[in-house]
Amino acid sequence: MKRPAPPVVTPGGFCTPEAPAKPPSDAIVLFDGTDTSLWETANGEPAPWTVEGGTMVTTKTDIQTKQKFGDIQVHVEYAEPTPAIGSSQGRGNSGVFLMGLFEIQVLDNYNNPTYPDGQAAAVYAQTPPMANACRPPGEWQVYEIGFTVPRIDTKGKVVTPAYATVFHNGVLVQNHTEILGPTGPGRLTDYRDVHASEGPLKLQYHNNAVRFRSVWVRPLVEPQ
Ligand code: MG
Repeated sequence: MKRPAPPVVTPGGFCTPEAPAKPPSDAIVLFDGTDTSLWETANGEPAPWTVEGGTMVTTKTDIQTKQKFGDIQVHVEYAEPTPAIGSSQGRGNSGVFLMGLFEIQVLDNYNNPTYPDGQAAAVYAQTPPMANACRPPGEWQVYEIGFTVPRIDTKGKVVTPAYATVFHNGVLVQNHTEILGPTGPGRLTDYRDVHASEGPLKLQYHNNAVRFRSVWVRPLVEPQ
């Protein structure tokens, strides 16, 4: 009883086809269907994504939060374009970049094969998801992500790497997966260029019109 009590958080709800999930009481809501004011381009310009019907639609370039985060829970609801157009990496491609560096792939892999470490909910080009839990295009889908930033000491030594846990539509697909370094196609990676312990949440524009409906995070504080 002498330990500090954990903070009280009023839970949110579950998303339905009609409405996004209500965020928990301590969430930082980054997109609630109204505007992209908390987002910007990599150059610091206003986010160019289109807001329509309570969603924001990918266009022109990646966007990232103005705020930086360390360890976080991330909630993202997205829907893939209909009718499905293109194949493999060309169908419904976007991405959720943790710390702006580590991509959890967004892709329409409902009856659309691609290389396993590039499919939806993969740590892109590193670790395939344990299952393909994609819903059909047009339906709302959810990523719930737990993310631990890498701990790098002052000499650049990796004390602990980054880790991601991902539930895709309620299915656990990444379980405390070690992230090997910043993600990118067809290359080995490591932490030599990673010096920060926080970064923005970034969403990818990859030539497809993917819709996002609800995006929020909760900075994580370890219990004392
Ligand atoms: Mg992508």
